[in-house]
Amino acid sequence: MPSSKGYAALDAQSALAPFTFSRRDPGVTEIAIEILYCGVCHSDLHMARNEWGQSIYPMVPGHEIVGRVIATGSSVTKFKMGDVAAVGVIVDSCRQCAPCNRGDEHFCQQGATLTYAAPDRVDGSITMGGYSNNYVVDERFAHTVPANLDLASVAPLLCAGITTYSPLRHWKVGPGKKVGLVGLGGLGHMALKFAHSFGAHVVQFTTSPKKKEDALRLGADEVVVSSDANAMKAHANSFDFILDAVSAPHSLDDYLALLKLDATMTLVGLPDTPPTFGVFNLITRRASIAGSMIGGMVETQEMLNYCGEHNIVSDVEVIPIQKINEAFERLLKQDVKYRFVIDMSSLKG
Ligand SMILES: [Zn+2]
Ligand SMILES: [Zn+2]
Repeated sequence: MPSSKGYAALDAQSALAPFTFSRRDPGVTEIAIEILYCGVCHSDLHMARNEWGQSIYPMVPGHEIVGRVIATGSSVTKFKMGDVAAVGVIVDSCRQCAPCNRGDEHFCQQGATLTYAAPDRVDGSITMGGYSNNYVVDERFAHTVPANLDLASVAPLLCAGITTYSPLRHWKVGPGKKVGLVGLGGLGHMALKFAHSFGAHVVQFTTSPKKKEDALRLGADEVVVSSDANAMKAHANSFDFILDAVSAPHSLDDYLALLKLDATMTLVGLPDTPPTFGVFNLITRRASIAGSMIGGMVETQEMLNYCGEHNIVSDVEVIPIQKINEAFERLLKQDVKYRFVIDMSSLKG
């Protein structure tokens, strides 16, 4: 591999800065890609600043990657030179355990290999992510991209997209179901597009009345401002499913009270302090609180194909990599509609 260039965090306090490193050559079942676009996920910010206590430095973040294939191992069948390939949150797993064998590589019993800041299963080096000019990955962990989709807008599908698609499918959201979505950010706006496309009756909850028009445009049937107690009460005991995509600290009780008997509220956001809830709202409706995380490789490809068929992509603001630190600050203020995507051609400038 030619030497790799990217932006890295050198410790938890510093801004991201230009960084040069090396990647190993692709093995027989691996491809190398030149990265075209990489989405900016809230996890990247948490990880760069070691807010989950598991960071390894230097760290090149980025796990919403779209690129073009520049090398293929001799046994690669899914890709040829010049194809577009996409890579998400994980890039390897044990490939032998029960979850791996049924396509749930993200729930690998030995732990899946994260796209950045994790030990590589092949050579033990630390994986470096997509805020860079290239990547090497096994074809099992890379996906094809429908030709009709805008590539910059595809990048966020690899984390924000699959993170919301998978639970909406798992809990069978569709026609005849009333679904609540909490939070309208990077994850939330994808949840809204998918839930609407699946044919459910979708109610978007938001703390910000300013987001009402956008929510309706993105597919909400109703929008409820969560501070409006009467509006919340009007929906009591009526939801089949609620997806909570909020990554700021918050209480679940206001939403648990809106679930029907036996309904589920699933969390996909990752607040750095645990959400709180009282047991009363659970026991009085036999409700469940659940969690979900990205999706397996087969389901991720299914999601991308679905997006191709239904023309679904993320709403993005494309930035040059030189603006990544500014983008992190704006992300903290939720000042983005709805995902920053880095145009990696800016690395060459
Ligand atoms: Zn992510
Ligand atoms: Zn496994």
